[in-house]
Amino acid sequence: MARPDVTPAHGEKVTIEMIEAAIPFIEFLPYPVLWIGPEYQVRYVNAAGREVYGDGHDTCHRLTHGYERPCDAQGEDCPKIRASDLGVPVSVLHSHVTEQGNQIFMVLASPTENGDVIEFHIELTETVCRDALTNLYARTFFEQLVRRELSLLDRMKLSYALIFIDLDEFKQINDKNGHKAGDTALRMVGHTIMQFLRDSDLAGRWGGEEFCIFLPGSNRDNAAQVAQRLRDAIRDIRMEDPWTQVKMTASLGVFSTDQHYDFDKAVCNADLAMYRAKEQGRDRVA
Ligand code: GH3
Ligand code: MG
Ligand code: MG
Repeated sequence: MARPDVTPAHGEKVTIEMIEAAIPFIEFLPYPVLWIGPEYQVRYVNAAGREVYGDGHDTCHRLTHGYERPCDAQGEDCPKIRASDLGVPVSVLHSHVTEQGNQIFMVLASPTENGDVIEFHIELTETVCRDALTNLYARTFFEQLVRRELSLLDRMKLSYALIFIDLDEFKQINDKNGHKAGDTALRMVGHTIMQFLRDSDLAGRWGGEEFCIFLPGSNRDNAAQVAQRLRDAIRDIRMEDPWTQVKMTASLGVFSTDQHYDFDKAVCNADLAMYRAKEQGRDRVA
């Protein structure tokens, strides 16, 4: 089907005249729309945006996150910078502090010909953010949330811990009992993990039978204790008929620090610790 000819041709940028002409329409769109100048100054917020972020004509980072500096200085992907650098519309996953708490948005950012950017903030619901099988956060969302938390912890130089969990010989559970048993086992592990979390903790399904837990404010001893108890709880999971003979164990890697706030390095360290637990014989914490 031919696209109606209302957008600029491919490669052409939006002009200020186009935005100004569209404001009466943008004002009433049901999601936040921000018009941002080259120095991050928000020139205009529509009605839905004012409801979510408040009224202030501020910088976009202060308005949507409460950050003093732009998102990229906090180690986050800044939609405005990405759109300006690439010169094309981009979409970026972003979590924002709103009156309702921490919400996740898909931010669509379009550069204009004079260096301004128009951003559309589409809120993603909790269900979209969660892995359907285990109900833990799906990896991308988990990552977004943790990166944001890390930037806050960095400013306060607070400790945190990451626990990386990999179920042991899980392939055999599938091979011996079928995929349905494997799925049920994963669901039960997700449920068990949830029961260990405090309100401020975050848990995500990292991959197939791998999980990651973020414990803000936790030190090495707390985190090791949580990991040990979690190891025991996974071992104690009892499945129902016809899978009562299925037993699970897990290898867990713990990383904790109050000095390094780089997400990728933290995950890498927790993952390395988990591999040590595997090497040392599985069903343990390293
Ligand atoms: P190791 O102790 O070394 O971790 O052994 P492993 O068998 O757990 O490791 P491997 O990574 O070889 O296998 C992971 C298995 O997890 C492979 C796959 O069959 C299973 N798996 C991954 N995702 C799912 C899923 O969503 N459902 C089910 N049923 N199985 C899954
Ligand atoms: Mg694995
Ligand atoms: Mg495994």
